[in-house]
Formats: sequence, structure tokens, C-alpha cells
Amino acid sequence: MSDRIPIDRSKWQKPIYQGHYDERAEFYEGIRCRCRKCELSFVFTASEQRDSFERNGKYPGWQPSLCPKCHSKFLELVSEEAAYSEKWEKEGDAAVQSEAFLKEWLSLLMHAESFQKQGFGHKIGMVKKRLREQDAGCA
Ligand SMILES: [Zn+2]
Repeated sequence: MSDRIPIDRSKWQKPIYQGHYDERAEFYEGIRCRCRKCELSFVFTASEQRDSFERNGKYPGWQPSLCPKCHSKFLELVSEEAAYSEKWEKEGDAAVQSEAFLKEWLSLLMHAESFQKQGFGHKIGMVKKRLREQDAGCA
């Protein structure tokens, strides 16, 4: 943890940086962040920053919005959700004829959305619309 990890700006996606480090900074240091989901504070470590900025192409002003625990929970939800989307893509309307399927899918989407990441609004709207159509159909 206390390793001093030198900054290699040549590997940064963009040379212009307006975040934590000024141009004289030579080493990454832990940055304290607050999780948007559970609101606990956590440290974005020097080695995580190096991986994010020098290997994964993150803009070097980026900071994680979720703590490691919430982040892995979020990734779990995303992969569970992907199974629903895939089923719908493969089976089309047959899949969404089941109200249980739609309701489970919706609850997963809402849970994922509560992590305040983007990208679920469109699907949530679509699943809700399907549920409404089914209600109308059964009445
Ligand atoms: Zn958290």
C-alpha cells in the first residue's frame, strides 16, 4: 500500500489534467472518495489509479463513484440483468409474455439503477411499458 508508484504521463489518455495532481506530482497517492451508494468513504489507491489511468484508458481526473463492495455488487447485478436482456433478444415476445419474468427483470433494473450509474432508464421504461400492456391485455 505504501509503495510509491511513479506517474507515467505518457500513458495517460489525455495529457491535460485537471484533477488531483498538478504537473509537478511524480507519484500517485491514495485519494479518499465517497461511495454514492452506501456513502462510506474509501481510498482509491495508488495502484488502482495507475491501472485506471495508464492501462485502462480512464481519463486521469476520473474517480470511482462506488466503493469496492458496492462496485462488485453492481457488477453482479449487471451480469444478472444481461441474462434477462439476452433471453428477451433470443426469444422475443415469448419471453416477455411472462409477467413474472418482467417483474423480476424490472426489480433487477431498479436495483441496478439505485447505484446511480447510467444506462438503465431506457430499459426500465421499456419493461414498464410491457407490463402495462399486459395489464391492459388481461383486463
Ligand atoms: Zn459503497
